Amino acid sequence: MPTDTPLKNEPPQVDAFQPPDRLLMGAGPSPVHEDVLKAMGQTTIGHLDPTMVGMMDELKDMLRYVFQTQNAMTFPVSGPGSLGMEACVNNIIEPGDKVIVAINGVFGTRMAEVAQRAGADVIITEDEWGTAVDPGKVEAALKANPGVKAVGFVHAETSTGALSDATALCRLAKDHGALSIVDTVTSLGGVPVNIDVWGADAVYSGTQKCLSCPPGLSPVTFSDRAVQVTLDRETPVQSWLLDLSLVAIYWHGDEKTGARTYHHTAPVNALMGLHEALRRIVQEGLENVWARHRETSAIIVAGMEEMGFSMLVDADVRLPELLTIKLPDGIDDGAVRGKLINDYGIEISAGLGPFAGKLWRIGVMGEGARPENAERVLSAIKECIG
Ligand SMILES: *Cc1c(COP(=O)(O)O)cnc(C)c1O
Repeated sequence: MPTDTPLKNEPPQVDAFQPPDRLLMGAGPSPVHEDVLKAMGQTTIGHLDPTMVGMMDELKDMLRYVFQTQNAMTFPVSGPGSLGMEACVNNIIEPGDKVIVAINGVFGTRMAEVAQRAGADVIITEDEWGTAVDPGKVEAALKANPGVKAVGFVHAETSTGALSDATALCRLAKDHGALSIVDTVTSLGGVPVNIDVWGADAVYSGTQKCLSCPPGLSPVTFSDRAVQVTLDRETPVQSWLLDLSLVAIYWHGDEKTGARTYHHTAPVNALMGLHEALRRIVQEGLENVWARHRETSAIIVAGMEEMGFSMLVDADVRLPELLTIKLPDGIDDGAVRGKLINDYGIEISAGLGPFAGKLWRIGVMGEGARPENAERVLSAIKECIG
């Protein structure tokens, strides 16, 4: 049928996109195994296909394994880690609620902003970037502010490379009658995460860091206590898409009949990729995966120190999966990173915020955490600065 409105835009001339070969050793995304890409490249099926139910149940079981939790309400949010952050904060927080957010880097700052936008009365504790969250400051804030509803913190700060004590922080929240909101985007799969041992309440992660899956999904898990708090809300969750009680109809089914029905169209192929990425972790075993991160990271630390670099973060709270390396005078940050990516196909990340131009962030995440990758990065850096 001829259209009566002539097209105003000429069709653009575009060739198929061909991504270059890259070794991803930055702050994410991390390298993705070809089996995961193959799983995502399979035929698309309906998001309510009868076979999807079994696949989704397996996904939830495998997420419970990597989170080390029995929480029923465990599933991947359809969106990046930041959307998981929005999901946790927006379901727990109602306007006017008091929330403590511990800031020791970029992602804690982001959580405070998300809480503010959710209408929370945000109380901030601050620690120097590159150090762990100080539980003493959080305890003091809890004592000074009775009636705090939640304590939020980042387990593994990707902007600085520091690991905080989730056990102590979740316990403090619980002891003061508050829920805990925990960012495990960079820790999940990289270092021990034990949701039930911590007693954490609303927890989000991402797929593109230590789970070695492409970006775009955010695994979350909510304790029964947290789910009850969302059911007892006086105001509806401001976000329709992220409202736990609505999205649960797709991921967990109707409370009475168990029937799963449409909420939003789930990203079927991305879920198939996550299914395969988690299956690989299950097969290798979590403890072995953690050990591989530790061992590969140690090779890079030793090699960088041998070249005269030093680490920002003290060894006792240093993340194996994200190393922040101080740049000595005379090293041109942009030039070296540019040479690494253009001549060697290796991506490492720049410093964020106050650390821009002052340090490098080398990611040792997921499939990146293999000794041969450590050797490749070290020899390329050596050649670039030599
Ligand atoms: C990457 C990251 C996020 C955000 O995840 P996106 O997928 O980029 O939205 C949040 N918190 C931490 C600690 C991260 O490393």
